[in-house]
Amino acid sequence: MSIQARKAVICVFDGLRPDMVSKETTPNLWRFAADGAWLRQARSVFPSMTRVATTSFATGSKPQTHGVVNNAFFHRPVIADTALDTSRADHLALAEKFHEGRFVEAAGLGCALAKAGKSFCVVHSGSAGSAYLVNHRASHNGQWTFSIHGREFTRTPGAVDEVIERFGPPPRSNGAPKFQEADYATRVMTDHVLARLQPDVALIWFSEPDTSYHYRRIGSRDSLDVTRKVDACFGSILDAIYSGPDAADTLVVAMSDHGQISMTGEFDLIGALKERGFKATDRMEEGAEVLATHGSVSGLSLVNPDAIRLQDLAATLMHMPQTGMVFSRDGENGDAAIAGTLAYSLIGIDHPRAPDLFWIALSSAAPDLSGAPGTGLFTGGVGVPIGGGMHGGLNPHELNTMLAFGGAGIESVGQIDDATDLTAIAPTVLAMMGVAAPDTMTGKPIAAVTGQARPRSTRRRIEAEFNGFRQSLDIVELENSNIVLGGGREV
Ligand SMILES: [Zn+2]
Repeated sequence: MSIQARKAVICVFDGLRPDMVSKETTPNLWRFAADGAWLRQARSVFPSMTRVATTSFATGSKPQTHGVVNNAFFHRPVIADTALDTSRADHLALAEKFHEGRFVEAAGLGCALAKAGKSFCVVHSGSAGSAYLVNHRASHNGQWTFSIHGREFTRTPGAVDEVIERFGPPPRSNGAPKFQEADYATRVMTDHVLARLQPDVALIWFSEPDTSYHYRRIGSRDSLDVTRKVDACFGSILDAIYSGPDAADTLVVAMSDHGQISMTGEFDLIGALKERGFKATDRMEEGAEVLATHGSVSGLSLVNPDAIRLQDLAATLMHMPQTGMVFSRDGENGDAAIAGTLAYSLIGIDHPRAPDLFWIALSSAAPDLSGAPGTGLFTGGVGVPIGGGMHGGLNPHELNTMLAFGGAGIESVGQIDDATDLTAIAPTVLAMMGVAAPDTMTGKPIAAVTGQARPRSTRRRIEAEFNGFRQSLDIVELENSNIVLGGGREV
């Protein structure tokens, strides 16, 4: 392996839609992407939720390999009565205990770096679960994860003590936008991590613009202001890198974990199922028949397995006008087990922990109040107001992510249309640094970035139909994986 970069700095902007990156709003990101390699057809994974995306990025694999199948999902051996919430430190601790340290079933970027004797530092401003999943073996591997939320939000609390001693307590603003948090995290990154700790790989995760998209609307003034803020933070980080001793040897990645679309209405999925004779609920209770999670995507499982009843449930969902897509496990011939649905393997979610069915709310490319394309429905019950942004499904505007590479080893090619997804980023960074990727890393280095010959790719549309319900999925087949471009109901 030839070494093109000795160090790497990865900057993650949670939820940032690449079509919000512009010369006016995000001059630093815009210039960086234009001068480097900007993958305009980069995608998240399914479900396009932060903790699933985080784990897929970190392990370079899809949920079928790493096992984190949703932000919150029913995993009754671990949590009996409610969904396991992967944002919560206590739920994750129980899951790790039950799975004997193998809740995340794949090795991560951190593991690969540790094995090669390289250091890895993370500055995180998201939930305890996200800070854990971005490097789930940090404590075991003697690495460093700082959380802006305090000691109990990371498995390496010494990092928090160290930072607070030097910079004072982190800010705590109520709600969105989170300007002060972005500034504080950036200072920790530039003045402490890059200047003092000088790790081989450093990562910073900004919780914005995701938080403001959710609670202040995608195209609102607050969302634009906080996007400008995190862009300015990115500018400060670039300045710190390029004025430092490793300027010529550092690969830089700017990325997001998913996009968002605007919610035009709530649909009470559980209520609608009850009206149609299914005892549906979001928590285990007496007489419960169907367990369902909330959001623009719902995972649905029968409490007692029953193939006929499951077919009835899928047919009922496909009959609802609020339904966008329905997926089920693979059947014997490689198609979905249930007629009219699409198969889990197509979207990389065929894992034993996955629910019986995934339901995705209806969405389209129709513009929202500010003119941004992408609107849809959700179940409510997640604290996001109508008009706010959501993600989780397969709308192209939820799936399309920001992804640009620059610095050491990167040719200035500007925008390119090679399809890729989150699972390819860690393998690309490792390949550029000459570090071997773990066997579980199913994503492959992005040829357009590493300078290798591009693999053969075929674009395909897969369709399914049941009693007037028609859905389709657009994928790009690469050598041994699918990039999911998007999908939806055909109307
Ligand atoms: Zn996110």
